[in-house]
This record gives sequence, C-alpha cells and structure tokens, in this order.
Amino acid sequence: MKVYYDRDANMGALSERRVAVVGYGSQGFAQANNLKDSGIDVVVGLRGDSPSRAKAELAGLRVLPVAQAAAEADLVMMLVPDEHAPDVYARHVAESMTPGKYLSFSHGFSIHYDFIRPPEDVSVLMVAPKGPGHLVRSEYARGAGVPCLLAVHQDPAGDARELGLAYAAAIGGGRAGVIETTFREETETDLFGEQAVLCGGLTALIKAGFETLTEAGYAPEMAYFECLHEMKLIVDLLYEGGISEMRYSISNTAQYGDMTRGPVVVNEETKRRMRALLAEIQSGAFAREWMRENRAGKPRFRDLERQSEDHPIEQVGRNLREMMPWLGGGGRLVDRAKN
Ligand code: NAD
Ligand code: MG
Repeated sequence: MKVYYDRDANMGALSERRVAVVGYGSQGFAQANNLKDSGIDVVVGLRGDSPSRAKAELAGLRVLPVAQAAAEADLVMMLVPDEHAPDVYARHVAESMTPGKYLSFSHGFSIHYDFIRPPEDVSVLMVAPKGPGHLVRSEYARGAGVPCLLAVHQDPAGDARELGLAYAAAIGGGRAGVIETTFREETETDLFGEQAVLCGGLTALIKAGFETLTEAGYAPEMAYFECLHEMKLIVDLLYEGGISEMRYSISNTAQYGDMTRGPVVVNEETKRRMRALLAEIQSGAFAREWMRENRAGKPRFRDLERQSEDHPIEQVGRNLREMMPWLGGGGRLVDRAKN
C-alpha cells in the first residue's frame, strides 16, 4: 500500500487553480477553511437559501450559488450529502464540467454506482479524510492532519493524482499520510463497515444484549450500563492499542469470557450474513435501494428511525445520562444546534 506525505506533493499543481467546495456541512466547513488557510483560492458553493451561508461568510470565505461557484472553478469538490449529490450535480454542476476540469469527491458512492456520470474529458478523483470534519479542521489548526484516501477514477490530463495529492496536502492530510485506493474499494469497504460492524452491527448487538437481560428480568438500568454505557471504555482501548491492549486492561475473567464466548455470539453464520450484505453492496442493490427510498421521501427511513427512538434502551438511557453531568456542557461531539 502506497503512502504519500507533504514532501511528495506538488503544491504548484493546486495553487494556480481555483477550487469550489460545494456544501458547507461537516466536510465542507473543514476542507474549505483548511484550503483557505493553505493559501488556496477557494470559493464555497451553496443554495441561495442555505442556512450555512452566514457561517461560511463569517469564516471569511467567498460564497456563491452552486452553479456560479462551479463555473468559476477548475476543481469542484462535491461535499453535499451523497443522496443529494446526483441532483445537485445535474442541476448546477454538470454544465460547468467542460474539458480540462476536475471533479472531486470525499466518498466514491455517486461515481462508483454511476449516479453521476461526468464527461470523459473531465478528471475525476477522490480525496477522503478518514475522520469527521471537526477533526479535519482541529488537527489542521494545531499543525497536524487527518490521514486521507486518494483515488483516481478517470484521468484524461494525466495529472489527477498530482492534483489530488496537492489537495490532500492542503487540507492537512499530507502531514498524517495519504493512502492510495480506488473508488470501488473505498465505497464498498465504507458501506460494509458502517452496515455490518460500526453502526448496524454494533447497535444491533447492543440492543440484543439489552433485550436479553431485561427479558430475563434484570433492571433496564443495569442492562444499559453493561451493554451500552461501558462500550466507550472498551472502544477507547481498542482504538488506542487494538484487541491485545483492550484485553490487557480488562480482568482475566472478562478476557476468558471474551475469548471463549464472543465467537458463540458472532460465528460462521454471522459471517455468512455479512457476506450476503457485502454482495448487495458489490452488486449495487443496496445503493439503488437507498436512492429509491430517497426519491419516495424516505418513508421507511423515518419509520425505522422513530421505532428506534422509542426503544426502551433509549428511554432508560435518557434518564441515566442525566446522572452524568460530564456529558453536558461544551465538550459534546454532537450539538444539534450547531452540527
Ligand atoms: P453534511 O450533511 O454534513 O453537509 C452537507 C452540506 O451540503 C450542508 O452544508 C448542506 O447544507 C449542503 N446541502 C445539502 N443539500 C444540498 C443541496 N441540495 N444543494 C446544495 N447544498 C446542499 O455532509 P458531510 O458529512 O460533510 O458529507 C459530505 C461528503 O463527505 C459526503 O460525500 C460524505 O460521504 C463525505 N464524507 C463525510 C465524512 C464525515 O465524517 N461527515 C467523512 C468522510 C467523507
Ligand atoms: Mg466510513
């Protein structure tokens, strides 16, 4: 696996060009500000009625309607939600995709599944920070960076990699490392990870554990602590030092239970189901289903979201977290008024 750093980047490739960042959410905010502070000529493209407009202008960024920003730019970075990207592209960006322009993404979804089909004489690349926007910004601001993935989908001018590497360096990625991958690999592993392990697998595991305990007559508060609350400690240890470090830190009793009982819960049958999810990702069936769901106004999404919010684990959690004053205040990762 190739890893690039600042010293490998030719900043001249980017500094003589204008960048349009379309969208000013988690990634748009971070990338636009980092580009600006790296001396890159950047403009933010937003809808006329966008609530982000004031925030971007306050940060000293130039804001234009999406179509105008795209028209003025050499490189357009699409940072709107993936389910809206094809529509934003078709309505405001496509007309500016003339020969010699660069179209970039931070996730391969739209290109890999053909929801966006740029002309062949436009360069298409991906620079994907492996972290949320607030971290991409804060690491850059303290002189460091978040590792980035770099991929090239089509390269008519022969310099898409050079430009992508310069972009990654300008947002701080070159200080941490830039790893080369492909649109297919990034998209399919990203979807699989969030479905089978990080989000889907984890929340289903937590709920199943909570339900097993409460259905057996144990207090929901105890079930919440054991199946959800303590997850953070374990994940912090895994994050810092992998499985061995986590096992080093827990008791021998916990470790013996972990090593002998874990594989009883997650076993060959679970992996067979994981492979079935992966097949739906690889065939594009999941992506098409998600885009259909959006066109229909997200009825199933909203329904499932509501059901989940009413689950007893969420109710008991809301009450228990009031006993944890350190969770309030300014240190929260999510403040619904701001992000
Ligand atoms: P987001 O939801 O935080 O922000 C989206 C922005 O797009 C908002 O400013 C919103 O106002 C704007 N927007 C929404 N609809 C629009 C429309 N119709 N026209 C114009 N603007 C519109 O999105 P995000 O999380 O920053 O994701 C952007 C891209 O970055 C996605 O491709 C995502 O997969 C990728 N990405 C995200 C993360 C992350 O941690 N959030 C990490 C890596 C890659
Ligand atoms: Mg991901």
